[in-house]
Amino acid sequence: MRKDSFILPEGVIYLDGNSLGPLPAAAMQRLKSTVADEWGELLIRAWNKAGWMQMPARLGDRIAPLIGAPEGSVMVGDTLSIKVYQALDAALKLRPDRNVVLSDNGNFPSDLYMAEGLLKTIGRDIELRVVAPEAVADNVDEQVAVLMLTEADYRTGRLHDMAMLTRRAHEAGAVTIWDLAHTAGAMPIDVDGCSTEFAVGCTYKYLNGGPGAPAFIYVRPDIADSIDPGLSGWLGHAEPFAFDLEYRPAPATERMRVGTPPVLQMAVLDTALDVWEGLSMQDLRDRSITLSELFIKRVEKNCPQLKLMSPRDPQQRGSQVSFAFDHGYEVMQALIARGVIGDFRAPDMMRFGFTPLYLDEGDIKRAVAILTEIMDDEVWREPEYGRRSLVT
Ligand SMILES: *Cc1c(COP(=O)(O)O)cnc(C)c1O
Repeated sequence: MRKDSFILPEGVIYLDGNSLGPLPAAAMQRLKSTVADEWGELLIRAWNKAGWMQMPARLGDRIAPLIGAPEGSVMVGDTLSIKVYQALDAALKLRPDRNVVLSDNGNFPSDLYMAEGLLKTIGRDIELRVVAPEAVADNVDEQVAVLMLTEADYRTGRLHDMAMLTRRAHEAGAVTIWDLAHTAGAMPIDVDGCSTEFAVGCTYKYLNGGPGAPAFIYVRPDIADSIDPGLSGWLGHAEPFAFDLEYRPAPATERMRVGTPPVLQMAVLDTALDVWEGLSMQDLRDRSITLSELFIKRVEKNCPQLKLMSPRDPQQRGSQVSFAFDHGYEVMQALIARGVIGDFRAPDMMRFGFTPLYLDEGDIKRAVAILTEIMDDEVWREPEYGRRSLVT
């Protein structure tokens, strides 16, 4: 749908945009001009003259329509783990009389680690209750202060029903936090429609902001002015340059800013967001389903050794498909050596992401043909494919 907007190496079929999006074609020029013309020429004047200081809010406003959020409700900055911490801290303060944070074991470990760390710091006796994904709805009770979930499971792409679970949580009086890391930029999302109090996500996966690109946080506008930010840094202050010794939060979501924004990363992200102009999320989603269905059909026909781990119903999964195989790690290394790039998650899961911005049916068919060859000839048995790297 936007193949010309990206630079991909010759001969590579990139099925890992769910982990790190590829390089937008305009990013290098943008980075160069931000470095040379803004940093190089304007120096510190660029905070005012090049609009650096407003970037977190301006980029938030560009992400907002992609997740169904109103203008002014999304702020960009920090990493996703930090945004999870901020959201959970603020959410818990909204329910001081309750003592359970409910999440599931399909959540990304960092989200659970951040929750663990925060609960220790708070010192209040709050339980982190981690249940199976299918048991979440039944575990929402009157003790639950916060329901904290990731919409798409990072391993299998299994989707939670965000609208239903948010409703369920609200009926029980709980606050909700949705992590959109694996859905923002992959499918339509309606944070406003489902009324969640908080949503967070990252921009280096489907949004193609580049390695280390900052995260985003959404706070529902009707409560944004009353939340108490736990990471009360100077740029979330009402008047950072008054240099008051006491903290006063900035209006609304602006208070979720912490410190100095990573300007170079934000410049690249700004360019990456141009790709979405005029694109329908529903069209993108429909194309992604077409591609993943084609992939599943062909893999199951040609590689019966592999076991589908993702939901078979495309409406129940995000934009990725996972297959399990005992030697999945080795198979993935053999694929990567042949230009088909996916990734691997322990213990045995091969992940393939489908991003119709730069993938088409021809790519999928070629990828499956290469996979079939690797399985038929047992190419993965070559010792070089067994060596484990730090990042899998
Ligand atoms: C990718 C991902 C993260 C990563 O967090 P960072 O702080 O950006 O490294 C966290 N949570 C989820 C659900 C993710 O998918």
